Amino acid sequence: MKCPLCEGEFETVELRTVGARTVDAKHCTQCGGFWLERSLEEPLMPEWVAQYDTPQPNYSLKASDLFCPIDDSRLEQVDGNIDSAGSRYWQCNDCRGQFYPKGQLALLTNHQAKTNPRVPALATNRGRAAMGISLVAVLFVGVMASFNRFNYQLNAASNSPLPTTGPNVYTLILLALAYIAGTVLAVLGRKLPLIITGWAVIAVCMLGFAVVIFGP
Ligand SMILES: [Zn+2]
Ligand SMILES: [Zn+2]
Repeated sequence: MKCPLCEGEFETVELRTVGARTVDAKHCTQCGGFWLERSLEEPLMPEWVAQYDTPQPNYSLKASDLFCPIDDSRLEQVDGNIDSAGSRYWQCNDCRGQFYPKGQLALLTNHQAKTNPRVPALATNRGRAAMGISLVAVLFVGVMASFNRFNYQLNAASNSPLPTTGPNVYTLILLALAYIAGTVLAVLGRKLPLIITGWAVIAVCMLGFAVVIFGP
C-alpha cells in the first residue's frame, strides 16, 4: 500500500481517541500524510496526533487527483471549513478510507479539542445511559420515600391542622424538577462546565430530599 499523494511508504502508527479507543493509522514516511481506514467516530486526542503531525493551516494541494490506495477509486476532497477547522482531507466513497495531507489531521484534532473540551473517558454512550438510568432510579426512591414521610405527617396530624411550616408537596415537586434538569445536564452535557453544573444541581437536590425524608 502506497501513499496516494507521493507514493511513499506507509508506517503504521497508533493513535487514541478521546474515548480511549485505539486507531491504527498509516503515516507516510515521505510526505507526512495520514491514511485512516474509516472516518473517525470520535475526535482523536491531540497529544497522540502531535507525536507525528503539526497543524498546517491554509493547505493547498499541488496534485489534482488522488486515488484510493485500497481500491483505486478517485478520492473526493472534503473541506474542513464546514466545521471551521479549515483542514482539508480526501475521502474514498467506496471503502470510506480517508487521506489527510501533512498538517491536516493535527489541524482538525486541535480544532475539535478547542471547540469540544474533553469529556471524561467514563462518559461513553453506554456509560451515559447507565448513569441516566441510575440517576432516575435514585429520583424515584427519593420521591417515594418523601411521599411516605408526607403520609406519616398527614396521619399524625389528622386531628390537628396541617403543619404550615417545613417541606410540603410543592417543595418536593420543585426538587424533582430541578433534579431532572440536573440529570439531563450531567448525562447529556457535552462540555465539562455543563456536566459539573448538572452534578452540582443533583447534589443539592439529594440534600433537599434527605431533609424532606429525615427532617431538618
Ligand atoms: Zn506521502
Ligand atoms: Zn477506497
